[in-house]
Amino acid sequence: MNDLSVFLNALPDGIVAVSEQNVVLFANAAVYDTLGVLPNSITGLPLSDCLKDQNLMMQLDKTGHESFLTLEADVSYPRKLKLRIRIVPLQEKNGEIDSPVALIIFTDVSREMSTAEDRERNSKLETMRLLTAGVAHELGNPLNSIIMKADLTERLVMKLPDSETKEKIAKDLAVIISESERLKRIVEDFLKAARPLSFRPSEADLRKLCEGCIAVMEPELHARDIAIQKYLSPVPPALLDEDLLRGAIINVIRNAAEAMPEGGLLIMRLETEGDFFKLSVRDNGVGMTEETAERIFDPFYTTKQTGTGLGMLQIKRAMEAHSGTIEIKSRVGKGTTVTLKAPLRQSETHVLDSPEAK
Ligand code: ADP
Ligand code: MG
Repeated sequence: MNDLSVFLNALPDGIVAVSEQNVVLFANAAVYDTLGVLPNSITGLPLSDCLKDQNLMMQLDKTGHESFLTLEADVSYPRKLKLRIRIVPLQEKNGEIDSPVALIIFTDVSREMSTAEDRERNSKLETMRLLTAGVAHELGNPLNSIIMKADLTERLVMKLPDSETKEKIAKDLAVIISESERLKRIVEDFLKAARPLSFRPSEADLRKLCEGCIAVMEPELHARDIAIQKYLSPVPPALLDEDLLRGAIINVIRNAAEAMPEGGLLIMRLETEGDFFKLSVRDNGVGMTEETAERIFDPFYTTKQTGTGLGMLQIKRAMEAHSGTIEIKSRVGKGTTVTLKAPLRQSETHVLDSPEAK
């Protein structure tokens, strides 16, 4: 009984060990449930030949094995499922051609997802929604007056003759203003997370949208000593909710910026892949530990002193609304690439599909 496969076969998640060349060296019994293939029938074959689902194949096609990666894919084979796919690189490599370099773990999260949707009403999120929507809303107005009054006072102070007192007041006012603005952003984050999601797609030019997001963030990136490289190919116009995507993209950029406290390089890439768009933002910042990568979508999960832990949630909601996915590739100390993918739906099909378009 020292054959580990006995244990691996007892697990509910599909597990596949692959070689450097992406050849399946081992597959456990649960690949039958998750991928619809018999474990014995796929060992020795390239992984790409074993995947019968088009979407899954596309998602896994370009991923390497060098870093931890978690992604989610909607598949229609062997049945309609939502799979969470985790790629876990193996530490020990002995350089032999048939030695495993990574485990790929397929978890069926459809039930988790569908009940998660039902449960949202009672969940942490819904409680938060009720509580914070009220509080955040109430905070908004006084905060705005504080900021406005502080701005006015700052202007008045500037007109006073120079003195030590003036300098001190100006300094303190600057702190009041910047902290109130930070508070305002937190309140806005809470309100966004608390608001029920509305999905209003209209024909959008994604490249323009990306340019706009970069333009908004440019001063902040510049102040942080972060260089920007963008490779934005044109994407055919498609039905997208610009507001949702703008919020998501800005959050991705902001997280990347915050991961590079000493400055760095941010690379944004936009391309079309089949009927999907693929937008990636790469930073060479601090990266994520495995724990962070696992918990990143939990509401309020943050590793930052002044974070709210609501940004990723916003990104996730936006991508889910577009039937899209978020892929996160990260290495501690090296950096992170966040890739957003979603289908580019054309107007005609949407009008037929859309329940609102009556
Ligand atoms: P916040 O930014 O307020 O902390 P988010 O939901 O946006 O909340 O992100 C949650 C956590 O995910 C962050 O605290 C951080 O630890 C991690 N994270 C997100 N993006 C990156 C990134 N590009 N590099 C490193 N860590 C990241
Ligand atoms: Mg954030």
